[in-house]
Amino acid sequence: MVTEMDRRNPIIGISGNIIIDQGGIFPGYERAYVNNNYIHSVVRAGGVPVILPVVTDHKIIYQQVENIDGLIVSGGQDVNPLLYGEEPETKQGGIFPERDEFDQLLIKTTIEAGKPVLAICRGIQILNVAYGGTLYQDVSNKEGAFVKHEQAGGPSYATHTIQIEKGSLLETILGSECRTNSFHHQAVKDIAPGFKVTATAKDGIVEAIEKEDAYFVLGVQFHPEMMAEKHENMMNLFKALINVAKKLE
Ligand code: MN
Repeated sequence: MVTEMDRRNPIIGISGNIIIDQGGIFPGYERAYVNNNYIHSVVRAGGVPVILPVVTDHKIIYQQVENIDGLIVSGGQDVNPLLYGEEPETKQGGIFPERDEFDQLLIKTTIEAGKPVLAICRGIQILNVAYGGTLYQDVSNKEGAFVKHEQAGGPSYATHTIQIEKGSLLETILGSECRTNSFHHQAVKDIAPGFKVTATAKDGIVEAIEKEDAYFVLGVQFHPEMMAEKHENMMNLFKALINVAKKLE
């Protein structure tokens, strides 16, 4: 039986992606999906996960946002560099322009509705670009970059250090320094107007950003959903998102 308490658990939308079947009986078919550890993290943190499939009809995106209390922007493809005024360079990876359009509208609509946003990996990148920021098409383009940001170890391993800004939202969740996993070859270059950098790796690569005039619009370059099962501090990111989503009810 569903109780009133259950109904009050916040609904957390997770932006979807599309994967193309490589084999089986429908090779070449498109499937809408998210990695399952986003779902597990939201459930364990006390939220109700809902996958938001990639659509480009604005009316549908507005209704997706109406029906959620908080948003997780999931990882995936590189952002199209034309969106931030650059031609693709040789190290630029694969793009998905429909998803860029979807994510940008989904993010802006959710923020305008005053709902909390946790943007992960590609999520921090598209969040920054959506509000006028730029990216390094490859971290090696940044002068002085020396940290291995595409780690070779398993997804739950914390492999590099991040330093977190005093007084930031992220500091209240993770403290002033911690270790994270790292699976990215691009990174935030110029921060979008109205945002601030709130964590960096030892080589200065941006690892977190926050929107200045919002209580909970947080982008992280690492993958807390891959660490949350083994690292309680990463689970606390999801709990923090869900606590804010709850207060809005
Ligand atoms: Mn990194």
